[in-house]
Amino acid sequence: MRQKHGQNFLIDNNIANNIIKAANLERDDDVLEIGPGRGILTKIMQQQIKHLTAVEIDKSLFQQLNHHFSFRNIKNIDILNTDFLKFDIPNTKLKIISNLPYNIGTAIIQKILPLSNWTIAIFMLQKEVARRLAAQHGSKEYSYISIFTSYYASCKVLFDVSPRCFNPSPKVMSSVVKLTNKLSKQPSQIFFDFAKHSFGMRRKTILNCISSFKDLGKNQAIQIMNNLNLVTFLRPDKLSISGFLCLTNEIEKYTNPCPEKFRPS
Ligand code: SAH
Repeated sequence: MRQKHGQNFLIDNNIANNIIKAANLERDDDVLEIGPGRGILTKIMQQQIKHLTAVEIDKSLFQQLNHHFSFRNIKNIDILNTDFLKFDIPNTKLKIISNLPYNIGTAIIQKILPLSNWTIAIFMLQKEVARRLAAQHGSKEYSYISIFTSYYASCKVLFDVSPRCFNPSPKVMSSVVKLTNKLSKQPSQIFFDFAKHSFGMRRKTILNCISSFKDLGKNQAIQIMNNLNLVTFLRPDKLSISGFLCLTNEIEKYTNPCPEKFRPS
């Protein structure tokens, strides 16, 4: 049976401590936790920082955790019973720590990374997804989410975690990653659109990816490749993030909604 809300609770205290250590918490930190569950990370972190906001979708877990802290009259924590994907992230300087619900891990990452108010994020997710976040061009894990991640953050895989450290055990290995905000400004929408389009057809050449993007066609695609001195048989997984950025700049010149006669020849 599929687990509701990707619930695999961490039961290994050493791993919990190592996740928290990776965030270099300080007394005046504000931390956001996504999916505190039974609170293994929550209960340790709360003692080390100024304030913790924890967002839990599951009503019964929320109630148990709320009871744990209110019973002890602990005040530096707000537990909210809501879906993180619909949650308005507070606009204060934050560290983010989470053993992510794996079924929506990349959606959560795409919600957080473009924001400028987080500094460090420590996430546990499936090993395979962690490798994709950190992948460089030329590797088989390099994909759209690698480009998205590396545009906004530097990403380091810290350590792997065995399924035995959870209850119930997930079917996959997990990894902990550390992301540091690069504070990049928002790129043009075409950058991400084109990267997504290209990785949707990763076995095709970049020439094919450009020709089929926004009706550019083969002739314009060849011109764009020539302008940048790119070889026509290059595939998307060999193109670095800066390569994608240059290509986007060039593509934009050809996709501007200006009349045909003013287009670059
Ligand atoms: N942090 C805990 C639980 C991890 S399991 C631990 O390490 O043991 C993932 C947690 O995320 C579960 O508690 C699950 O209920 C919660 N969750 C799943 N989807 C969520 C969502 N959309 N918003 C907030 N919490 C969510």
